[in-house]
Amino acid sequence: MIRQKIVAGNWKMNGSKETVSSLVEGLLKMDASNSEVVVSPSFPYLSQVSDALSASAIQLAAQNVSDQSKGAFTGEVSASMLKEFAVKYVLVGHSERRSLYAESDAFIASKVKLLLEEGLSPMLCIGETLAEREAEQTLVVCQRQVQAVIDLVGIEAFGNIVIAYEPVWAIGTGLSASAEQAQDVHSAIRQFLAELSQTVAEKVQILYGGSVKASSSSALFAMPDVDGALVGGASLDADEFIAIVKSAG
Ligand code: PEP
Repeated sequence: MIRQKIVAGNWKMNGSKETVSSLVEGLLKMDASNSEVVVSPSFPYLSQVSDALSASAIQLAAQNVSDQSKGAFTGEVSASMLKEFAVKYVLVGHSERRSLYAESDAFIASKVKLLLEEGLSPMLCIGETLAEREAEQTLVVCQRQVQAVIDLVGIEAFGNIVIAYEPVWAIGTGLSASAEQAQDVHSAIRQFLAELSQTVAEKVQILYGGSVKASSSSALFAMPDVDGALVGGASLDADEFIAIVKSAG
């Protein structure tokens, strides 16, 4: 099965009105027709970026969402609010949220459930720490993180979920997993899903994330189970991000 590649830029907590505007201007020069291109600004810039991208094929992702649908939850942002800005994807389970904000597997699963109910597509981030890799726990950890979501929403729901495999040791470190290391884990995750549904396993897009650059993306994208990338640092540079998108074919 041919799965369309997704190249998603996670801008994290970076930018200003001015830099966001020039970044988007730079991105609008690219041909975004061969893969699905996604950008994920911080909440305050969603409106600005949504307007600027309205005539383009580039899609919008949010970096987070509340696990509650509305009400007295000061500081939170709901899925229905995100929909007003034409957001398509929402990152959930990013390692920065798991580690710095203590988001548990069950909490992340509850966000996935709510997003699906609202018709938004979760980008479910999973991945092991360096200590877990060294202890040969990579697959155990990834499977546990995926299983928590399956337990709440079921396997069929993965038809509307994108998975991003992001080894924690590769995020923001400049040390990308090799294409082979990524392929091994992606293939194992797909196999894990296939035990429950072959159809879903063949359909689900599994992105790699962790220090992806234009110099490493072609090799990653050549792997049969790597269906794109979630790009942090390199997505803040329009030319670098466009080069990554080009390498997706
Ligand atoms: C990320 O934050 O999802 C990420 C992969 O970051 P970086 O590309 O900077 O490692």
